[in-house]
Amino acid sequence: MKRIYLDHAATTPVDKRVLEAMLPFFSDFFGNPSSVHSFSREAKDAVNAARERIAAFIGSEPGEIVFTGGGTESDNMVIKGVVYAGREDKNHIITSKIEHHAVLESCRFMERQGFSVTYLPVDRYGMVDPDRVKEAITDRTILISVMHANNEIGTIQPIREIGRVARERGVYFHTDAVQSLGHIPVNVDDLNVDLLSSSAHKLYGPKGVGMLYIRNGVRLHSFMHGGDQEKGRRASTHNVPGIVGFGKAVELAGQEMEAEMRNLRLLRDYLIKGILEGIVGSSLNGHPEHRLPNNVNVSMPDAEAEYMLTELDRSGIACSAGAACASTSVDPSHVLSAIGVPPETAFSTLRFSLGRSTTGEEIKYVLEVLP
Ligand code: PLP
Repeated sequence: MKRIYLDHAATTPVDKRVLEAMLPFFSDFFGNPSSVHSFSREAKDAVNAARERIAAFIGSEPGEIVFTGGGTESDNMVIKGVVYAGREDKNHIITSKIEHHAVLESCRFMERQGFSVTYLPVDRYGMVDPDRVKEAITDRTILISVMHANNEIGTIQPIREIGRVARERGVYFHTDAVQSLGHIPVNVDDLNVDLLSSSAHKLYGPKGVGMLYIRNGVRLHSFMHGGDQEKGRRASTHNVPGIVGFGKAVELAGQEMEAEMRNLRLLRDYLIKGILEGIVGSSLNGHPEHRLPNNVNVSMPDAEAEYMLTELDRSGIACSAGAACASTSVDPSHVLSAIGVPPETAFSTLRFSLGRSTTGEEIKYVLEVLP
């Protein structure tokens, strides 16, 4: 039976070219980049090359990139690190109701520490209104965190406009770009962001490695204490093969993203049209235009997502009922709830996330099987 992978928002396969770039750094160039002898040199050079490549890709300085253990760590580092650094006179965070749990749970933790958090609502497409952000800012606000693109419904936020509002009021602005980096253009100056999280495994790199962009001048407390790696901002020996893989994945995205976006948009729209026309009463969640090129999120009446997932899996089709990290949750998706989808409809919703290897033939097969 052919197997079709349409869950790229959960994770992507490591591109063979990425794997090839990583392999020498396991056993040949295995040195610790922080050592002083010659064994460390190749590792150090490779980490720096990856840092430079990623910095160039997002329009930052190499010194503004800190390598982390993934998107979750980068998000935690921002919410806790920035807020603690400014706690003498500021104690307020603004975020949205549809953030990833890495941001939301970090915010809830900060609330338990006595900080206050505003969770902004979104419209029916999942958009945050920059005017609502403006209204929510107080003299005590230290940080605004709004994700670039949503992992469930694919909606792309007006980050540049929110960033402008934040800058006018002198508030730090963070965006979680885990789902967008390598899939749509990401430039920290165009987006007016001060901090940006990303993760290699969402763009055909390895799992367990991510990065945080920290604009020069932003004050942030480290919460990983130990050695002075990453200029003391994130202790722990570098994951050299992972970082090399991340760098290579970004290099490939730089070369292939434009063409990939065009192709994925066509396939995405073919799938959306096919479902909406083929399944009576089905509806698309997320923004019809401002959405990731690879995201399809649809509700289908009287069809239980769990049952559909199992049946589709039996037909070789892998997709998701929401975010992978929340797939064991019995609550309806917080994202679907926030855009006004009733619980019974939320439980009959599937997410298909397309990727580099997705073909028109595969989408055609899904459209035959799904109805
Ligand atoms: N933020 C978003 C928007 C995500 O989609 C994910 C992963 O699904 C994360 C953060 C967490 O990233 P990681 O798996 O690298 O910890």
